[in-house]
Amino acid sequence: MTELILKPGKERSLFRRHPWIFEGSVAHLNGRARPGDTVDVIDDNGRRLARAAWSPKSQIRARVWSFDPDAIIDDAFFKRRVAEALARREAMPQLAGQEGMRLIHGESDGLPGVIADRYGDTICLQLTAAGPDKWRNAIVGALVKATGVARIYERSDSDVRGLEGLEPVTGWVHGEAPEAKLSIDENGVRLGVDVVGGHKTGFYLDQRDNRLLTRDLAKGKSVLNCFCYTGGFSLQALAGGAASVVSIDSSGPALAGAQANLATNPQLDASRAEWLEADVFEALRVFRKEGRRFDLIVLDPPKFAPSAAHADRAARAYKDINLLGFRLLNPGGYLMTYSCSGGIGLELFQKIVAGAAVDAGRDARILRRLSAGPDHPIALHFPEGEYLKGLLVQAD
Ligand code: SAH
Repeated sequence: MTELILKPGKERSLFRRHPWIFEGSVAHLNGRARPGDTVDVIDDNGRRLARAAWSPKSQIRARVWSFDPDAIIDDAFFKRRVAEALARREAMPQLAGQEGMRLIHGESDGLPGVIADRYGDTICLQLTAAGPDKWRNAIVGALVKATGVARIYERSDSDVRGLEGLEPVTGWVHGEAPEAKLSIDENGVRLGVDVVGGHKTGFYLDQRDNRLLTRDLAKGKSVLNCFCYTGGFSLQALAGGAASVVSIDSSGPALAGAQANLATNPQLDASRAEWLEADVFEALRVFRKEGRRFDLIVLDPPKFAPSAAHADRAARAYKDINLLGFRLLNPGGYLMTYSCSGGIGLELFQKIVAGAAVDAGRDARILRRLSAGPDHPIALHFPEGEYLKGLLVQAD
């Protein structure tokens, strides 16, 4: 097998079981490798450390499949890893009965570059690196065998594929398009999922538990849901008995999806919902001028900082919306605020929110730290997996 020889000292992150080998860590290759081929990872003392997938165009030059230097990477390997990922979720009572669930969360499930989200009898699969691209058939086969789903849609169109030198790939890789629109039951609320045209794999499964928390807090409250997408937080707030729910998004199609979702939930009181197609930054300023106030505000913006390089500009944007959020909050009100930017860590995010509270002249305290649900595990050796962080804050 082709050998990837590390520069001196560059074995250290592998001893910590971090699965990424950066361009600057690679001394040379002994032999040839095509994109996605499995290579032996060897340090400069000749110690064999791991087997990894070669990504010649990416700054992340190789991603470790296994820290067993003798592991055989074949169809059976993917069957095992997929079965392990599923077993982990089956063992978690909190996930029992969920129709929507992340089955494979990339590096944290031992499958770098593989995301698989299940929506009932459909899986949406996203492959983001050369290794998984090469093993597509093995991964699809393992998922079909382990879950028995009727169909799998591949949604490998994320921007990060460009960094790998890979073209976008989309389409049905198992079964056929369903006749009816896809939807899932999420804790008593029916929500549509558009695997072909929606964001990410069609839906934001990572916020499931936090939407449930919103429901628990919403009774009798005036709720403002910013960046509402297809209305997940809004509908759970209505389910929790909110007095009113104002939802804002700049995307017309997202709002149309939200209203369609509301229509498929006749148990919810649609007269309490107001939908606004607008830029959140502008809309909140208008609300402030109008003197509008809310008891519970959700801020779940898109990724302002895809990487650490964008952190400064992103920090200003987070500060701005959180400041506006605090200003619109009634005394005793709750702010549920998130960042899904990999480039902004929890500590920095908390500082930004604290700064926003000071500037708004509000004393506030964190009641809970929030994160993605247990179907989005974070491997201890892969802190990058913790992209979603949130705070539930109560202001005086
Ligand atoms: N909370 C949602 C997911 C939010 S995704 C859920 O639980 O499903 C982020 C959303 O922000 C997208 O729908 C996008 O259209 C919207 N968006 C991005 N920039 C915006 C802006 N400046 N103003 C309003 N909406 C924006």
